[in-house]
Amino acid sequence: MDIGFIGIGNMGKHMTGHIIGAGYNLAVNDLSKAAAASLLEKGAMWCDTPAEVAAASQVVFTSLPTPKSVEEVVYGINGLMTRWKEGDIYVDTSTNSPSLIRRIAADAVKKGVSVLDAPVSGGTKGAEAGTLAIMVGGDPASLKKVRDVLETMGRKIFAVGDAGCGNVAKLVNNLISLACNSISAEGVALGVKAGINPQVLWDIITVSTGNNWCLQQYPNTTFKGNFEPGFRVDLAYKDIGLALDLGEEYGVPLPVGIAVKKELQDTIKAGFSDKGVDAVILPLEKTTGAAARVSH
Ligand code: NAD
Repeated sequence: MDIGFIGIGNMGKHMTGHIIGAGYNLAVNDLSKAAAASLLEKGAMWCDTPAEVAAASQVVFTSLPTPKSVEEVVYGINGLMTRWKEGDIYVDTSTNSPSLIRRIAADAVKKGVSVLDAPVSGGTKGAEAGTLAIMVGGDPASLKKVRDVLETMGRKIFAVGDAGCGNVAKLVNNLISLACNSISAEGVALGVKAGINPQVLWDIITVSTGNNWCLQQYPNTTFKGNFEPGFRVDLAYKDIGLALDLGEEYGVPLPVGIAVKKELQDTIKAGFSDKGVDAVILPLEKTTGAAARVSH
């Protein structure tokens, strides 16, 4: 099976590493050829456009930042759509809009192409380790055909429902996890300002009811003053926006989600758009004058 992959970023660089490591032929494209340098050394084929990737592959994966970039890669002048062949499978692993995926799936089926949305969770660490959770929407027969490739990247693969459902699950996950991210930052900023050692606070909360995945990352991020991504603030802001759009579409009020979006927006306005999502604590620390750092 010849595989294509578009979007060799913080996630895609690890995911493609696993695909090529498993012995598949791999054709790649990104806005920047430099992003693919190490893959090309390992034998991947560079393509100048998504259309060339589609022509060279039976299965094309994307890992792209925004719905707009996915739309461009699929429908653009040199997009996948121009060179899709009957029987091809398209797997979008980006965190994307369910309605865009449904539109792509409806257009692709006219060309005999099957579309799966397969967003992932587990961060860059999970991508590097090949232990991502992958939530797949779309035709079960197509999932069966690509399962072996997905298993190079992830340990837990879930069949969620029709195309778009993978992203519904992913957006619900990120709504919850980004709320944990924001409230953990607020709690730690409050505790530190009120006089508790951040390490002591962490030791207590990670064995108490406030424990959550975001807080668990602090020893490697916030406590060290390391805010390099990982998962960037601008992508988190995109995801919370998509979750709120979904809430509006289905008439589900999401007041906490709205507050999380505002906090991420404030973090972007403070200049931390390119930082890891733990950076939501930085504007709070500026306000309190107390930084949650741990020296060893
Ligand atoms: P990234 O910005 O690091 O990588 C995206 C890559 O896509 C970049 O290399 C960029 O050059 C390329 N790209 C953008 N537009 C393109 C186009 N039109 N044609 C070709 N290439 C293009 O983002 P990332 O962190 O790797 O995330 C990718 C996706 O995975 C996003 O949808 C994100 O929300 C999701 N995600 C990220 C994480 C994480 O921890 N980083 C975790 C889970 C899911």
